[in-house]
Amino acid sequence: MWRAFRPDSITVLYDKKCRASLSRYFDIIFDKKMAKFKLLKTFPSDFQGKSTAEMWKLHNKMAEDFKDYVKEVDSGREADLAERSLLDLKIFLAKKTLERCTFCMHACAVNRLRGETKYCGCSMDFPVSTMFDHYGEEPELVPSFTVFTVGCSMRCLHCQNWTISQWKERGTLYEFEEVARQADKARLRGCRNLNMVGGEPTPYLYHWLEVSRSIKENIPIVWNSNSYYSHPSSRLLAEWVDVYLLDFKYGNNDCAVRISDAPNYWEACTRNHLMAKEHGELIIRVLVLPDHVDCCFRPIVEWIAKNLGRDTRVNVMWQYTPHWRAHEIPELRRRLKRDEMEQTIHIAKEVGLENFIT
Ligand code: SF4
Repeated sequence: MWRAFRPDSITVLYDKKCRASLSRYFDIIFDKKMAKFKLLKTFPSDFQGKSTAEMWKLHNKMAEDFKDYVKEVDSGREADLAERSLLDLKIFLAKKTLERCTFCMHACAVNRLRGETKYCGCSMDFPVSTMFDHYGEEPELVPSFTVFTVGCSMRCLHCQNWTISQWKERGTLYEFEEVARQADKARLRGCRNLNMVGGEPTPYLYHWLEVSRSIKENIPIVWNSNSYYSHPSSRLLAEWVDVYLLDFKYGNNDCAVRISDAPNYWEACTRNHLMAKEHGELIIRVLVLPDHVDCCFRPIVEWIAKNLGRDTRVNVMWQYTPHWRAHEIPELRRRLKRDEMEQTIHIAKEVGLENFIT
């Protein structure tokens, strides 16, 4: 049925550029390879009795070895479940991080295990606004089992999902195992991936790692994020995420602070995109904002072409609509003009991007 109104989700299977940038993802979809979280469960790790610093050291060393392990299993090596695995180590370290939360760049350092909350408002609960088979994502992701959690690490004044990101909705509290069961069912009915979004998934990194521990089916993990997560988070994500679906929101920190209250966005965002390119497969979303073509769009696509490659999969998004408090930023009170859309295509071609969609 969905194939009728998203025929591009079928034709994309024959798109050479898309297949090249997401080759492992497509192999997981067709069960030729294992999703990373499943491989992590088979990679033994003995971390008992170690200090947190020693565990991080062990984690980073094992992460290096894991790269070769993935290649070997992809080439046919047997992989059996480990009694204690690298996924368990990641979960342990993520839980430790919650004692002084530094999952995102705000680095609030509150003890969420004791119920303290700060900027994002997220606690140890796992509130889900909705979860459903999403047919509106990039063609290669459709149908995408998408889970919208409540709360966010940024304050984009034009936020389209502001009722979720700003806790106007409280969501329904879920157990990890139930979300895992829903993901298993989604995979069995044909969803191509588990898409973690919000709000923002970063505050729930520990929760999501726990969910993946209970998932049985081979479903690729899509990390659908604003890219404002910390370096420790990027380390935990690195061997676990199959596809990074990352926003690249601003071309400079002034715009990021003025519109989204996100200091050092450029440094975090570029670092996390480089990590994503090194450790997984990547789709970048660039939502074009009115009057932000020269200050944001151009430097973003120039940086992508130069640092990630001209073949990077980029979705240039024109659907900006003023939501929430967008009226507080004068240039964000309108939608994009036709000539701004045309300008973005011209710039994307000028910097040499070869694999972008609109
Ligand atoms: S995830 Fe939330 S509590 Fe943790 S550092 Fe970010 S805003 Fe603060």
